[in-house]
Amino acid sequence: MTDSYVRVRGAREHNLRSVDVDIPRDTVTVFTGVSGSGKSSLAFGTVYAEAQRRYFESVAPYARRLIHQVGAPKVEDITGLPPAVALEQRRSAPTSRSSVGTVTTLSNSLRMLFSRAGTYPDDAPERLDSDAFSPNTAAGACPECHGLGRVHRVTEESLVPDPSLSIRDGAIAAWPGAWQGKNLRDVLAALGYDVDKPWRDLPAADRDWILFTDDQPVVTVHPVREAGRIHRPYQGQYKSAKRYVLHTFADSKSETLRKRVQRYLVSTPCPACGGRRLRPEALAVTFADRDIAELSGLPLSGLAELLRPTAVSDDDGVAPTLARDLVARIDVLTELGLGYLSMDRAAPTLSSGELQRLRLATQLRSGLFGVVYVLDEPSAGLHPADTEALLTVLGRLKEAGNTLFVVEHDMDVVRHADWIVDVGPEAGVHGGRVLHSGPVADLAQVTESATRRFLFDAAPPAARPPRKPTGQLSLHGVTLHNLRGVDAAFPLGVFTAVTGVSGSGKSTLVTRVLADAVAGHLGAGPEDDEESAARARFAEAKGVEAVDRLVRVDQKPIGRTPRSNLATYTGLFDAVRKVFAATDEARARGYTAGRFSFNVASGRCETCQGEGFIAVELLFLPGTYAPCTTCHGARYNPETLQITYRGRNVSDVLGMTVDTAADFLADVPAAARSLRTLQDVGLGYLRLGQPATELSGGEAQRIKLATELQRAHRGHTLYLLDEPTTGLHPADTEVLLRQLHGLVDAGNTVVVVEHDMGVVAGADHVVDLGPGGGAAGGRIVATGTPAEVAASADSRTAVHLARRIG
Ligand code: ADP
Ligand code: ADP
Ligand code: ZN
Ligand code: ZN
Repeated sequence: MTDSYVRVRGAREHNLRSVDVDIPRDTVTVFTGVSGSGKSSLAFGTVYAEAQRRYFESVAPYARRLIHQVGAPKVEDITGLPPAVALEQRRSAPTSRSSVGTVTTLSNSLRMLFSRAGTYPDDAPERLDSDAFSPNTAAGACPECHGLGRVHRVTEESLVPDPSLSIRDGAIAAWPGAWQGKNLRDVLAALGYDVDKPWRDLPAADRDWILFTDDQPVVTVHPVREAGRIHRPYQGQYKSAKRYVLHTFADSKSETLRKRVQRYLVSTPCPACGGRRLRPEALAVTFADRDIAELSGLPLSGLAELLRPTAVSDDDGVAPTLARDLVARIDVLTELGLGYLSMDRAAPTLSSGELQRLRLATQLRSGLFGVVYVLDEPSAGLHPADTEALLTVLGRLKEAGNTLFVVEHDMDVVRHADWIVDVGPEAGVHGGRVLHSGPVADLAQVTESATRRFLFDAAPPAARPPRKPTGQLSLHGVTLHNLRGVDAAFPLGVFTAVTGVSGSGKSTLVTRVLADAVAGHLGAGPEDDEESAARARFAEAKGVEAVDRLVRVDQKPIGRTPRSNLATYTGLFDAVRKVFAATDEARARGYTAGRFSFNVASGRCETCQGEGFIAVELLFLPGTYAPCTTCHGARYNPETLQITYRGRNVSDVLGMTVDTAADFLADVPAAARSLRTLQDVGLGYLRLGQPATELSGGEAQRIKLATELQRAHRGHTLYLLDEPTTGLHPADTEVLLRQLHGLVDAGNTVVVVEHDMGVVAGADHVVDLGPGGGAAGGRIVATGTPAEVAASADSRTAVHLARRIG
């Protein structure tokens, strides 16, 4: 390859309008443009997809057929294209057993260190294999909890929530209902137990036997006469409540039953391993006087300090070599602002930005060169103070001989790139052209570009006088994760931004503690059972009564299969189906609204069961989807597709963007209202049938917000959002902010976790956490108006905020 450019010709993927573009290799190139302009279609959908296709064609001829099924990207030609590695945020949901250690492969090295260089007890027969230090293998997992670290147990409190009741009145809430429950009661009575005394007055030994015995005695039961019917005596068998609950939970085929009994289980650390997930033999091995579970629980920065003495020795034995490798890799993570994470942190609890940066750092050590790395907004979740480090890491990958294609919205990252490809000018059919491909400074001449203004117009918008709060919600003695006895106040009726470096505790404070406090007051439980394992603690919450509704708008996917999509999630599809069912032809054929659902057998394509796609399993790739060969993605059977409304069938409507549909369905009020709110949050470019699996976290969040706005009312709602600007071009951020400020003007309270200093500068109030991440953070370092926080001497946010205040 003597030509040092990647040259793309005739790219037509999605909305791309036969794009020709030349991008130099061995550079950091950013792809910019408003949401939906076509940046990802070019960077991921064309360049990355084509590189993947070529790679598989060359290494795995058998994969060719599958690749044909998935389809090649629509592009005439690409020359100068190296192999590509994608580090993208969406579609990479980790499995629940993966952790920081497995994602980064640091676990492998640490296990090797324990296996080869750990201190074994004197009586240990031999060294353990490194597998024996993994809770995910049979050789390592604690046999009691199978490596999960927690066990499900029943306790007297969980089985008998109200001990003032007698057994006859239902003291044993966990018992099954109907005949089964009566049977158990009658069996107990026949065994001589008092079923009419309040539970708490029964002797402890009886209570214990009734709930926990493993015996299953059989007795003759003489049922009492009920409702005039005479029951014959029968042989009844006893089964303790524990037995019933545990067996049902483990074995029942009925999801409903399992859910029901789950309420009577409490999850506690495994008594055998103490939550450390490993066999005792593995836990007996130490390094620097600690077992591997302890080391995995340390913040990475702390782990590096512990290993450093071993790493710096100039011995080239096993321990120093392994320790050096670990320390070098951890140092990169710490540099990227992730030193507060521990290796045992479960991957699903990480934000997508954290996850992408973990993967990015892992690549630095891979030793690959001559590849194109394609990244999706690596700055997501990153405080401006850490942007510098991100740029350094990107620079290092480049110096190692690689090319970086970065889809990015953060103008600080964009400014430092070598090359910019600006796509637009707008979204969907109004975008799809390359407006500029060249050095960043030259974009200043491109008047059509929506990016130009944000990159070159330095003057910040004039400051708006902060709104006056209508009250205050305060939490005292907050303790969770790295927050230790923190007092925090959130003014009501205003817009508050919570800031701080990654890991300082922003999400913990807002999406966990504040959310739990308000939800608790409103009588709702915490949102997620898994997360409630560690409940937030606070000594006191004041002012909560002024909030009558809580809305959490998070970035979790709106669905995990291609069956859920924008239209089904927002409820908009109901209106669409009714429109089709009301056409003359549908009425003549007796088609109801259900016929137009791809979840109902009568109307859908049976080959793909209405998905439009067939899952294709590529051996060493994540599963992917290929269009259905019967309906070619239409999802419906031919009869259903014969029904048209204004010349379009239901599948055509699912293929429309929100903007197109807003015109097409303008006179269908139920649909028009949803569509307008989707446009209001900047989602006009999304297609109605866009599968949930194709949406980014930021898009999912804005869909939730739009769904919420649709039913917004005046009043005292508290809206909590975690980085709502993720994935948004500054021009889209302006649109979103108008919506959020509109909610505040209508009397509601908005609290956002945010890194975009433009958004923070426009807030009424700022709560800044820090000073660092993890144990080095968790305190409120500054609070007040944006101007006050910008003047704070202790805050790492201050300098960045000051630049954005006019
Ligand atoms: P950006 O990355 O700039 O936000 P995208 O490349 O994701 O934009 O999208 C550009 C256009 O292509 C949008 O109109 C979007 O709705 C459309 N699009 C994206 N993904 C698909 C898809 N899988 N099928 C059809 N159209 C798509
Ligand atoms: P921020 O939102 O400011 O990036 P977080 O609230 O996510 O910070 O994290 C604050 C601290 O709490 C960090 O040390 C982080 O590792 C820890 N933490 C966050 N979520 C969890 C969790 N689910 N389990 C254990 N520790 C967590
Ligand atoms: Zn265990
Ligand atoms: Zn089909």
